[in-house]
Amino acid sequence: MDSEQLREYGHRMVDFIADYYKTIESFPVLSQVQPGYLHNLLPDTAPDHPETVEQVLDDVKTKIFPGVTHWQSPNFFAYYPSNSSVAGFLGEMLSAGLGIVGFSWVTSPAATELEMIVLDWLAKLLNLPKQFLSKGKGGGVIQGSASEAVLVVMIAARDKVLRSIGKNALGKLVVYSSDQTHSALQKACQIAGIHQENCRVLEADSSTNYALRPELLQEAVSRDLEAGLIPFFLCGNVGTTSSTAVDPLAALGKIAKRNEMWFHVDAAYAGSACICPEYRQYIDGVETADSFNMNAHKWFLTNFDCSLLWVKDQYALTEALSANPEFLKNKASQANLVVDYKDWQIPLGRRFRSLKIWMVLRLYGAETLKNYIRNHIKLAKVFEQLVSQDPDFEVITPRIFALVCFRMVPVDNDEKKCNGRNLELLEAVNSSGKLFISHTALSGRIVLRCAIGAPLTEEKHVKETWKVIQEKASYLLRKLDMKYVNFWGPPPIAIT
Ligand code: PLP
Repeated sequence: MDSEQLREYGHRMVDFIADYYKTIESFPVLSQVQPGYLHNLLPDTAPDHPETVEQVLDDVKTKIFPGVTHWQSPNFFAYYPSNSSVAGFLGEMLSAGLGIVGFSWVTSPAATELEMIVLDWLAKLLNLPKQFLSKGKGGGVIQGSASEAVLVVMIAARDKVLRSIGKNALGKLVVYSSDQTHSALQKACQIAGIHQENCRVLEADSSTNYALRPELLQEAVSRDLEAGLIPFFLCGNVGTTSSTAVDPLAALGKIAKRNEMWFHVDAAYAGSACICPEYRQYIDGVETADSFNMNAHKWFLTNFDCSLLWVKDQYALTEALSANPEFLKNKASQANLVVDYKDWQIPLGRRFRSLKIWMVLRLYGAETLKNYIRNHIKLAKVFEQLVSQDPDFEVITPRIFALVCFRMVPVDNDEKKCNGRNLELLEAVNSSGKLFISHTALSGRIVLRCAIGAPLTEEKHVKETWKVIQEKASYLLRKLDMKYVNFWGPPPIAIT
């Protein structure tokens, strides 16, 4: 490690990235390369001798960039956002610079303690119940992803129940969620050994805006109890992936409590919005939950990865996940004076990720962050309005946060053709390179998703995006007219 070389190359790299952001709108948002494109551009073996940073950066520009989808582009509206910011970037740099591995408190006390502090700060911003704070039995931890978060709490819940009823009961444990829940839950069940036939995926439909109905949950739980099964885990949602549906947490939590189930709340995307007092209502009922998760790396200006998980009972996690070989033993851990985050997660090693969110909170402050969220929601309202003013389109579910679910309306009530046409539209807008939106299916209908949340997005980008969508849609509709016209006779006007 040569400090002077780092200084020189570091400056150059920061310049390179700053220039990238300056020119980000000049790239096609969605990479248009074909599978395997890079194999043709790079050598088959690693270089034997050092190359210069200029050579590498040249290759980044000419060979890597074509295969990059620009998630930080202001015209990126697909999936959910994955925010990068100056503060998050600096925190990431500092974390890489320090290069610590903070699995136990003793391996870098500041890493553990800063993580506890910033998760308490965030819990207070979200107005989470006190049981989630680190002062008592609870506390927060940074996981790599929402998938890891739900997996670790499911393992904690599973072991807690099996400790009291015996390991042989694994085949009787039942998990509940709505069919709108992210597939991360299904993966967690697979890994945790929950039998597939014991995963209750309860239908949610447009009558509740895709929220889980408590009566449906109660019925399923009662049926399982009658069959001698053991309900043990419920996953509720605040902001589903498809359409930002919000489950009624208080009512679901009551059922979970009555049946001694672990209640996990997945607010991976929408949790960020709940720091604003006017959106906090969407996590009302969180006091009934055992664990709560939000991805700061989605919509909270914190570079990937940084998934925040709070639990009320840290011992449920550590009972299930701790391992203490001789080579990790140390006085602080053995005296039970400290938190060792290795026992709250799957891997042993862990980065100093709290620096990122600490930087974000300090360099921006809570008020700026709230306004950042509000601005995206305002832009989503603009987009929603544009969609609803166009008779060829419809908004599919009421917008709650900054995701608008919409589609081209069916012609002659033909839902099947309508699905095909919306997929065609998706392909057409995304292959234009001007923007990137994604899709989902709700009650069998193909729905287009415009998720506003990239840090650089402004109203002009939203309006321009809508223009591109309208242009592509009217082209598709003209094509459709042509078909009808050709079928019935010569076109009355020239169609270009
Ligand atoms: N939960 C929700 C609601 C999501 O939208 C997503 C991803 O978009 C996930 C969970 C999975 O997130 P991760 O990639 O952090 O595992």
